Amino acid sequence: MKPKGRVVIFTAPSGAGKTTVVRHLLRKYENLDFSISATTREKRPYEEEGVDYYFLTEEEFRTKVDNGEFLEWEEVYSGTYYGTLLSEVDRIWSEGKQIVFDVDVKGATSIKQHFGDSALAVFIKPPSLQVLIDRLTGRGTESQKALKSRIERVKNELTYEHRFDKILVNDILEVTLKEAEMMIEDFLKWNS
Ligand code: ADP
Ligand code: 5GP
Repeated sequence: MKPKGRVVIFTAPSGAGKTTVVRHLLRKYENLDFSISATTREKRPYEEEGVDYYFLTEEEFRTKVDNGEFLEWEEVYSGTYYGTLLSEVDRIWSEGKQIVFDVDVKGATSIKQHFGDSALAVFIKPPSLQVLIDRLTGRGTESQKALKSRIERVKNELTYEHRFDKILVNDILEVTLKEAEMMIEDFLKWNS
């Protein structure tokens, strides 16, 4: 798929603050739109179908894999699949908007490779591993089992930090949000 615009990819270990940063940017910039991923994980109470994710059964997900409907997909946690639909990329570009992705480190690597200089890949990093664990626990969205599998994965995900274009340390939230704005304004050459 050839780039028809620019894309910004946010990636990070679970709990580092991707959703918080991405939601802020989408509220602030009308010209950005979110690539709604497909997933087989259970919906959280505050999430909406077709807004946060397309929630699919494993069978539905596999059918889309077989039909070549994904730009990339990963089994992010054992038995839980996530993927970027080509139709999302088309939808957003056909509206003349720029795309924001929130994907895991492997998905971010694939999307960056695919779009090259048309993509800015930002790795969001917690100030420390303990802060990340505290935030993830404090969010209260995961079962004990899911929490454990996310924390186990974090150490490996943190080793990816230097593979992306920018690192954004998420310590004081207001500072992080300003830095994120500056990064994307610079990349997309906008004035707010
Ligand atoms: P991710 O999407 O990367 O899993 P979230 O954006 O859901 O992470 O953030 C995880 C939790 O940490 C949420 O409860 C969020 O409100 C909180 N959080 C995010 N950034 C900060 C910050 N800078 N300081 C304190 N809490 C934060
Ligand atoms: P969560 O379950 O917390 O919403 O997301 C878990 C992880 O899956 C996060 O790292 C998130 O960025 C990642 N993720 C969400 N959508 C996609 C996707 O389409 N592709 C890939 N590779 N990862 C995704």
